[in-house]
Amino acid sequence: MNAPALPVPYIAAWSGEPTAQRRIVCRADGIAYADEQPSDRDQHGVLWNGRAYARGTGRPRFGEVHPARQRDAMAHLLCQVCGTPADRNDRGTLWLLEDNRGDWPDWPDRLMTTHPPVCLRCARLAADLCPHLHGGYVAVRVRESDPCAVLGRLWAPTALGTPRKLDRGVVAYGEPAARWVTAGQLIRSLHGCTSVDLDAE
Ligand SMILES: [Zn+2]
Repeated sequence: MNAPALPVPYIAAWSGEPTAQRRIVCRADGIAYADEQPSDRDQHGVLWNGRAYARGTGRPRFGEVHPARQRDAMAHLLCQVCGTPADRNDRGTLWLLEDNRGDWPDWPDRLMTTHPPVCLRCARLAADLCPHLHGGYVAVRVRESDPCAVLGRLWAPTALGTPRKLDRGVVAYGEPAARWVTAGQLIRSLHGCTSVDLDAE
């Protein structure tokens, strides 16, 4: 008998979705694509990584997050696995989080995460099918969350007009560094969190 399989996550990239190779240039106040289009930036003016959009083409790249779909899921609170609206009730939106309860007393309040929420069905599937999730993850209801930052590649200006590549990092919206990053993932900070039992949900 074949066990039910988790679908390829909505936010995963596929081999048929190559990353765009685009020339980045320095402007007075930050970086830009040489052939930039208005859709290359989000509403905060942050530049995003380009990647072809052809979900389901080729093979899934489980380790790679598709920038536009991750941003879509995070911005609109869609399930990161199936792409439908994440589950929400009066205690908030459902998230599956890596269990770091020891990090601070009211964890995960104020946690900043790149992982979009989940729907109930996908949360149960993941909990059932992935034994390593048992004990390793907690289900949390999040009353409020704020798209506050991006994870991406930082760049530094040079005298030649071509920016120099720095490390990847987290940059909050509104920081000067937000003009010097190519974003790959949107981050939300979580507030009003309640740990819940998935079976009881
Ligand atoms: Zn789902």
